[in-house]
Amino acid sequence: MLPAGTDELVGAYSGWDDRVAAILSKAKGDILSFALYHRRRDPVWVDGRVALVGDACHAMLPYQAQGASQAMEDAAVLAEELGGATDDVIDIALRRYVDRRAKHAGMVQDASLQNKAFYHYPDGPQQQARDELLRQGFDGESDVSYHWLWSGTPLNDPDLGAYEYRFAR
Ligand SMILES: Cc1cc2nc3c(=O)[nH]c(=O)nc-3n(C[C@H](O)[C@H](O)[C@H](O)COP(=O)(O)OP(=O)(O)OC[C@H]3O[C@@H](n4cnc5c(N)ncnc54)[C@H](O)[C@@H]3O)c2cc1C
Repeated sequence: MLPAGTDELVGAYSGWDDRVAAILSKAKGDILSFALYHRRRDPVWVDGRVALVGDACHAMLPYQAQGASQAMEDAAVLAEELGGATDDVIDIALRRYVDRRAKHAGMVQDASLQNKAFYHYPDGPQQQARDELLRQGFDGESDVSYHWLWSGTPLNDPDLGAYEYRFAR
């Protein structure tokens, strides 16, 4: 991260609606500039009894606003797996945690990348079609279907929740 000034912030949006510049010009305090990276699906989440969760194993672009959500889902599933595990099956529990989470988190990483393109079309027919879609009360936020992302629960036992599950055993 690098410190940046108000001028740089406003300058990054030159050509946008004047109201954007007006809002940004009022920024006070520290302004930081940082790069956004797409990360490939991480093939290694567990090494021995060390397991990764969250950004450590599936850092993603922000275009689905899902980084923290996915980290929490990791934690919930990990708690569910470890909550029922005795010492001799911890390795299996960690493997099951990865099996339950890696594919899903990877899909969100990919969908976030897809949204990057969707949100950044240059002015032209594609951008106009997108804007029209959004204007018409599009059922979603982008052209990525959200049903798989926003429906259901990562937990096997959604009624209990991870915390109660541990103590109910
Ligand atoms: C501007 C911005 C907006 C965002 N908006 C959203 C959003 O709307 N919705 C959403 O779901 N996600 C959002 N995210 C993403 C979300 O913040 C992250 O995906 C989430 O915080 C990841 O959680 P984490 O626990 O994996 O990592 P972190 O929250 O990064 O936690 C890691 C912690 O480890 C600590 N740490 C690092 N190294 C060490 C060390 N050596 N020893 C001890 N501690 C250490 C760090 O200080 C930090 O506290 C946003 C992120 C940013 C930057």
